[in-house]
Amino acid sequence: MSEKLVFDVIVVGGGPAGIAAAITMAKEGLKVILIERGRFAGAKNFFGGVLYTHALADCLPDYWERRPPFERPVTEQGYWLLSPDGVVRFMHKSEHYKQEPADAYTALRAQFDGWFAQQAASLGVLVITKTTVTECIRDGRGRVSGVKTDRPDGEVYAPLVILAEGVNNLLTQQLGLAKADLPPRFVALAVKEVIGLPAKEIEARFGLASAKEGVAIDIFGDATLGLPGTAFIYTDKTAISIGVGLLLEEFVHHKLRPYEVLARFKNHPVVRPYLAGGESLEYGAHLIPEMGYNRMPALTADGVMVAGDAAGMVDALHREGTNLAMTAGRLAGETALEAHRQSDFSAGFLKQYRRRLEESFVLKDLKQYRRMTDFLDSTPYFMKTYVNYLNEAALRYFTAHGIPKRTMEKEIMGMLFERRSFFGVARDMLKLLQGMRG
Ligand SMILES: Cc1cc2nc3c(=O)[nH]c(=O)nc-3n(C[C@H](O)[C@H](O)[C@H](O)COP(=O)(O)OP(=O)(O)OC[C@H]3O[C@@H](n4cnc5c(N)ncnc54)[C@H](O)[C@@H]3O)c2cc1C
Repeated sequence: MSEKLVFDVIVVGGGPAGIAAAITMAKEGLKVILIERGRFAGAKNFFGGVLYTHALADCLPDYWERRPPFERPVTEQGYWLLSPDGVVRFMHKSEHYKQEPADAYTALRAQFDGWFAQQAASLGVLVITKTTVTECIRDGRGRVSGVKTDRPDGEVYAPLVILAEGVNNLLTQQLGLAKADLPPRFVALAVKEVIGLPAKEIEARFGLASAKEGVAIDIFGDATLGLPGTAFIYTDKTAISIGVGLLLEEFVHHKLRPYEVLARFKNHPVVRPYLAGGESLEYGAHLIPEMGYNRMPALTADGVMVAGDAAGMVDALHREGTNLAMTAGRLAGETALEAHRQSDFSAGFLKQYRRRLEESFVLKDLKQYRRMTDFLDSTPYFMKTYVNYLNEAALRYFTAHGIPKRTMEKEIMGMLFERRSFFGVARDMLKLLQGMRG
């Protein structure tokens, strides 16, 4: 009979949450195994994507010396409000963004996650790839005490398991911590394409001085046919990452095909010139959990903690997910260290993981925006109405030559109230404020 494989902690999932957890524990000497189903960590992962260095620095303070495979620093960022034939841009550029290391970098996950997992391995984590965890093992008292994998003799044991399995949180569901089948109202589907272009061409099109500058643009309005959702354009070294995301419910309700929505966005007259002549290098679709603070899974049970997308830790409004995942992973790791010090792996003890999260920006932010989904639900017209209005108002403002300005101002106000009544606008703004303030 083969010998029983026993570790201090098992981490399921080689994304930002799992790797951050593993690093945190290995640095303090715990015996950690990280199990990833992909060919390598990151092989199956993708995002927009902008990575925030604060969360990385918190778990790996010397990350910069370890030469992370970033694409470009984000030196200009903001929003485009897209109408069918125009755009209002709110972009911000500052010398601050040029400090090294920068606050945020664009990245490609296959490279970043691969590098991050190598750092974990260099700190002593046993990283096992091409292996899927099929279920959690419970002991006679119902406590999680290990996992089964799809390998022959593939059982691994530990008094603690950290589930960082991403949005398809089947193991979290199996344990009864998350509800099965998230309703399509609470999960978004995003499609993304990476379009290759020479670095010089990207720099010329986006007004960047060199490879040490990059742009991150989040886009609302016509990019998603005026439906609640977002699109993005981010510059990589020699590619542009472009994508759109909508709630699954919107795709179903409006009979939309994700790739058609992306194709339509790419063909928008404002967007097309940025992509002209580019070569499609990668294409994919991925889910984003948007259940919000009120519908998150339970985060702990005896012998187990859940982190990252598996627990719905995404702040879609600010396109943040990897930093929430890394911070949650680190806090799960710190809780595991404490649990080992005290030899207490009970749900009662592990509750401090949630407390640590509540004290951090992770649950503070998710709590603040907990009503955002309800806001979008109750104002499905919001993006279309106001984004198109702002574009028309801008056009009127910039073309009102030879007309008294008072007349132009009245016309602009009139254009708003043609769309929504005075009280309708007041109600929308109040709801928006409530959604933003929590
Ligand atoms: C289109 C898109 C754009 C985004 N843009 C941004 C952005 O710009 N900035 C940002 O910060 N966030 C962004 N996000 C969100 C971000 O990608 C996620 O929040 C983040 O990846 C969550 O990390 P995680 O480690 O929890 O999960 P994941 O990154 O999904 O990692 C989970 C890992 O677990 C593995 N796994 C799953 N089940 C098993 C199993 N049973 N056994 C073994 N391994 C398993 C998977 O293969 C995967 O490697 C975006 C997401 C999408 C889809």
